[in-house]
Amino acid sequence: MRDGDFFRRWMTVATAAVEQEAPRLTELDSPIGDADHGSNLLRGFTAVRAALEAEPATGPGAVLVLAGRTLISTVGGASGPLYGTLLRRTGKELGEAAEVSDEELRKALYAGVGAVAQLGGAAPGDKTMLDALVPGVAELGTSYRAAAQAAERGSLATVPMLARKGRASYLGERSIGHQDPGATSAALLLAALADAADAGDAGGAA
Ligand code: ADP
Ligand code: MG
Repeated sequence: MRDGDFFRRWMTVATAAVEQEAPRLTELDSPIGDADHGSNLLRGFTAVRAALEAEPATGPGAVLVLAGRTLISTVGGASGPLYGTLLRRTGKELGEAAEVSDEELRKALYAGVGAVAQLGGAAPGDKTMLDALVPGVAELGTSYRAAAQAAERGSLATVPMLARKGRASYLGERSIGHQDPGATSAALLLAALADAADAGDAGGAA
């Protein structure tokens, strides 16, 4: 079972990954965007860490709802409301329980990704974060690491795609040949989940 600390660990590892990868995410957002994806997520996840530190005793659902709400209110770019919706919706699905099973988390994340698709109107193949999130979540039934690897492959598969949603779509054919920054950060988020699970399983705490 996964408790509130597991979800805090996920957000802490995700924040560290964003801190490390922010320059690369911004660089990917240069040719097909406005060069702010790394700084957007850095601002958002730094605020998530602060918000979670200010609210110590909370269960799985509350951790993700707070994280999602914080991303929505601190990130100006398209990715803030989209990632915010992912976490908030996933957290709402988890509800008030003090601990959730991996199967409950899989179903909740599936609903969260559905909410992202609904909000942004994108589908796999449109060269967005969904190209990593959808294959990633589909592998959750195998393992967290398999999900992270599928998301990573999904992010690499955005290179030859033509962008149909978001800022990159303004470029039309010129969006081809570049990796989508949001798909890249989505793979980081699922890798952070796998890292959090490894740490918990190793310590026997989760
Ligand atoms: P902005 O585009 O406003 O500058 P960011 O640079 O932070 O915001 O995020 C860009 C990323 O957001 C894109 O690489 C893409 O993955 C994702 N994105 C943009 N629009 C959509 C959408 N409608 N649906 C899903 N993801 C989207
Ligand atoms: Mg941008």
